[in-house]
Amino acid sequence: MKDLYILGACGSIGTQTLDIIANYPNEFRVVGLSLGRDLKLGQELIDKFHPEIVCVREKSHINQIRTNAKICYGDAGLIEIAQYKSSNEEVLVNALVGSSGLKPTIAAIKAKKNIALANKETLVMAGEIINKLVKENDVYLHPIDSEHSAIWQCIRGEDRSDIKRLIITASGGSFRDKKREELIDVTKEDALKHPNWKMGAKITIDSASMMNKGFEVIEAHFLFDIPYDNISTVMHRESIVHSLVEFNDTSIKANLGTPDMRIPILYALSYPRHVKTKNLTDLMLEGKTLHFETLSQERFPLLAYAYEAGKKGGFYPVALNAANEAAVYLFLQDKIKFLDIEKIVYEYINKDYSNIDYNIDEIIELDKKIQTEIKRRFV
Ligand code: MN
Repeated sequence: MKDLYILGACGSIGTQTLDIIANYPNEFRVVGLSLGRDLKLGQELIDKFHPEIVCVREKSHINQIRTNAKICYGDAGLIEIAQYKSSNEEVLVNALVGSSGLKPTIAAIKAKKNIALANKETLVMAGEIINKLVKENDVYLHPIDSEHSAIWQCIRGEDRSDIKRLIITASGGSFRDKKREELIDVTKEDALKHPNWKMGAKITIDSASMMNKGFEVIEAHFLFDIPYDNISTVMHRESIVHSLVEFNDTSIKANLGTPDMRIPILYALSYPRHVKTKNLTDLMLEGKTLHFETLSQERFPLLAYAYEAGKKGGFYPVALNAANEAAVYLFLQDKIKFLDIEKIVYEYINKDYSNIDYNIDEIIELDKKIQTEIKRRFV
């Protein structure tokens, strides 16, 4: 039996996690849930899974929830869940959006919880520190992202030194068939129509801008300890090949599957087993055609910026993430245009961060400073 704590339970990954684990009542027990603004859904999840601890976003939400569970709220509440103790093997599923995911991940690792990570910003902002903490506290960190789950499965049993490169696939997002000049007046409604995956707003915008793929390159670097020059990306419209690994002898392994996040979620929670599933659809190969095209860094500059920030290391990925997060927030509020997102990110990855000490407090401080500064320009 594994005890699960799900942060961001009402979001896309959170609800899909609960949906899939509900099929395995003897394997998983839901101990903690953090809820967002949708309290009606939150109440449904509480009634169905009976957690022992629940975190709501605002203090005022506490009275709106009926439960016998311990209730906490806000950022401090997320930490409380991360530090809660139960008697079985514990796994914290971090499905929070954006930089808010970092502190709870750290608190959970220090409380000896294993991590199933959907919040890629955690590794983008502090991959080096997280890896160190995972090792020190003897816990595991499993990726939930479909591309990283694919790579993880491809390298299983292989010798690290035999790997030539990782090849991360990208669907291309909602604007994959538009030229740059056609992006000038696109709206958030256009951007939110992803061709293959049903996801939350932030990640769908990040997919349209290709920032998401950039984050995934950084995430892969930290998860698999592979240099940036040995991580490449390719456009693959069908989202059936979830990623590939090329070996020194030119042999390539790929992982294929239906585009359904419940598959990588289940693998992250069941590793090293591939468990039998009831309500997932088999991938029918007959009649499928797979396409692979160049993913242009001129067409998608945010991808180039991610490599640049990743290679520079230190605070550059922090700045990349913070500027993007604030810019996407403003775009979703109709305050800036789509192409302004990359302009804002460019500005912040070209500042100098060399005089700051590299530690978690400074990372969180810089993130806050950059986001506040950017949002303040558009009030
Ligand atoms: Mn992904």
